[in-house]
Amino acid sequence: MSRVFNFSAGPAVLPEEVLKEAAAEMLDYNGTGMSVMEMSHRSKAYQEIIQTAEKDLRDLMNIPDNYKVLFLQGGASQQFAMIPMNLMKNKVADYIITGQWAKKAFKEAQMYGKARAVASSEDKTFSYIPDCSDLDIDDDADYVYICENNTIYGTKFKTLPNTKGKTLVADVSSCFLSEPVDVSKYGVIYGGVQKNVGPAGVVIVIIREDLITEDTLDGTPTMLKYKIHADNDSLYNTPPAYGIYICGKVFKWLKKMGGLGAMKEHNEKKAAILYDYLDQSKLFKGTVVKEDRSLMNVPFVTGDEELDAKFVKEAKAAGFENLKGHRSVGGMRASIYNAMPIEGVEKLVDFMKKFEAENVK
Ligand SMILES: *Cc1c(COP(=O)(O)O)cnc(C)c1O
Repeated sequence: MSRVFNFSAGPAVLPEEVLKEAAAEMLDYNGTGMSVMEMSHRSKAYQEIIQTAEKDLRDLMNIPDNYKVLFLQGGASQQFAMIPMNLMKNKVADYIITGQWAKKAFKEAQMYGKARAVASSEDKTFSYIPDCSDLDIDDDADYVYICENNTIYGTKFKTLPNTKGKTLVADVSSCFLSEPVDVSKYGVIYGGVQKNVGPAGVVIVIIREDLITEDTLDGTPTMLKYKIHADNDSLYNTPPAYGIYICGKVFKWLKKMGGLGAMKEHNEKKAAILYDYLDQSKLFKGTVVKEDRSLMNVPFVTGDEELDAKFVKEAKAAGFENLKGHRSVGGMRASIYNAMPIEGVEKLVDFMKKFEAENVK
């Protein structure tokens, strides 16, 4: 068996240790004589799995007691609707548009109320984060929305926007658990776990309790109400049980690695290897402004589409998978999430150097 270095943006690389553990427990989880996939979500064994997962996540992120942790389905995209349906009491919300995911969320919110785009970086293909220190926030805004790490474009908010006292809602799908966060600065933090935390099928929503109310927009389906999931500890209906179990293992792995502070150091070191090389390469260059660079998603180009395609093809043959950029940007993108070992980035850079030597005349 040989595993490739998988630079996919998502679903993405998971810690090998976690996959091995799950494999060992596949037929008989902890003496139950069955797989986690086969057990009732109301069983004692499963209760312990979901409760331990929540507790470990709370420890890792230092989540204050007045926040609920919800394990839901529907992906990050379902939150694009759940957020306005549950939070738009005044039917006004301000969105900061830093990429396709923020734009999709914004468009969805427009279906339910007055969603306003208060800042955007679309003028330069989302290659930077706009200045959000003094935005024209609506006095009636129910919340201000950001996509904190832009998976497709490779930018990240290094400072949070000044929301002028309004609730901040953040999609952190592609930077979830990559570094410490101050949860108390947000009303809602959410992410699809398939980028940096676990298998597709689970979305984690961390939400301040006062934002969870009965007062949702007319016609909000039961399954799209935060309150129903909060009141039932994410077990109103059958949750994405196996996915939550794997997330729980990743939380344990992160704790063993030293927690989110240690993860941040590790991620900075890893990203620097790639960015330092890009900054001096005569062939490849990064596509976003330096100060807004993501630690997780690193897009780069040669400036020549044919050469980009040749690189992706040769890289694949050498064991570096999924380096093709998103269809809306072109070029390449290396997603280097928590579980990507430093060795993977070092070897990629060695390969890029070799490719550069062979292709720069
Ligand atoms: C991948 C991604 C999404 C969409 O996630 P789904 O789970 O496929 O709905 C939303 N936001 C960000 C930042 C993403 O990276």
